Amino acid sequence: MTTDTKTAETRTFEADVSRLLHMMVHSVYSDRDVFLRELISNAADACEKLRFEAVSRPELLGDDPKPRITIAADPDNKELVVDDNGIGMSRYEMAEALGTIARSGTRAFMERVEAGKAAEDTQLIGQFGVGFYSAFMVADRVDVISRQAGSDVAFRWSSDGKGTYEIAPIPIEAAPRRGTRVVLHLMEDATSYTTPYRLEGLAKSQSGHVPVPITLVEKPGAEPRDIADGTALWVRQKSEIKPEEYTDFYRSVAGQYDEPASTIHFRAEGRQEYNVLAFVPGSRPFDLFDQDRKGRMKLYVRRVFITDDADLLPRYLRFVRGLVDSADLPLNVSREMIQESPLLSAIRKGVTNRVLGDLAKTAENDAETYAKIWENFGVVLKEGLYEDYERREQLLKLARFRSTASGEGWRSLADYVGAMKEGQKAIFF
Ligand code: ADP
Ligand code: MG
Repeated sequence: MTTDTKTAETRTFEADVSRLLHMMVHSVYSDRDVFLRELISNAADACEKLRFEAVSRPELLGDDPKPRITIAADPDNKELVVDDNGIGMSRYEMAEALGTIARSGTRAFMERVEAGKAAEDTQLIGQFGVGFYSAFMVADRVDVISRQAGSDVAFRWSSDGKGTYEIAPIPIEAAPRRGTRVVLHLMEDATSYTTPYRLEGLAKSQSGHVPVPITLVEKPGAEPRDIADGTALWVRQKSEIKPEEYTDFYRSVAGQYDEPASTIHFRAEGRQEYNVLAFVPGSRPFDLFDQDRKGRMKLYVRRVFITDDADLLPRYLRFVRGLVDSADLPLNVSREMIQESPLLSAIRKGVTNRVLGDLAKTAENDAETYAKIWENFGVVLKEGLYEDYERREQLLKLARFRSTASGEGWRSLADYVGAMKEGQKAIFF
């Protein structure tokens, strides 16, 4: 492709994207609402990436240091805009990010669909949250106008979702001063997404806890109105947080659309200070066995997103989703430092113990929930038995087995041994 700033060009989507888009466009999926969550989550990610870059390059923030997301409706023109002042995209990044399928979750989704479970498609869209492309569930044309932080050129990506997209430079005056503006030209049957109360309700319930404030502009020229304040949920007191707030946050951080099986929220104080908000998903994420699949725990430092690549939990706990927010790590923490930092290994240890402790507690107090967790993640947890000698005893207590001698259901080793017939010397499995 061209990397120059002057030419317009039309390109063809990667084959998988075309297929995915076809599904979006022809989706009979009733819960199209998820598109807004996806766009807001991308906008928030972009703001966090900028916050991180700006630690070493503060000039990127210019005179607009506060992250924000704006949702603007234009009912007369059947348009909906989601706008952020985040990191933005270069021409090259636009083609990469909005023309291919990068993320493994979406790839896994496609494989499921290929596997012929077409009847499930509509269910699956909801469970996966297929990212940016979900915009085509409600729009017959999508424009993405972006200006990368620090750049003096801007581009527009545009597509009707039918096989090709165009990228062209646009005059700088027509672009946001920084960041990305996604313009949805709504389908006839999706115009209700310009209704203010609908937008406010959706944004609050799905995305009210993203760490970036959200503003709503009800129609062109209207006064912007704050609808979410960007207070990070994890720094709030446990006692003040409602279960549905945890669930909403779980959905946005985990990209899962079910209920968490278990919520682990605590603040470590003392030598290390950090907040943890983590969830055991209620169902199996589709990329659980993906080879390159890393953990899904995000690392924050004083509410600034740093990376989701810090191996905050051992591999056998890779089904746990959430974040750790450290008060002690330096903001400009580098990759190498993340690998070697003694601070971080102390955090890893603390978080791992806590998660295992929580699982043990659930096993003890709520056998039914624990059986579900084991059903979903037992195979992964079991990897720990030979990967983590130090915690082997602990893990063994968490393990559940099916036993022919005792009928239906899962049992722990202790139970089984307790119920063994006198004289039994061996367990067969
Ligand atoms: P994911 O968010 O899981 O990476 P998406 O399909 O939602 O997948 O988005 C694809 C990519 O497009 C993002 O990873 C990002 O690089 C880019 N992108 C989307 N929206 C924005 C935005 N508002 N600002 C900057 N980049 C964006
Ligand atoms: Mg996304």
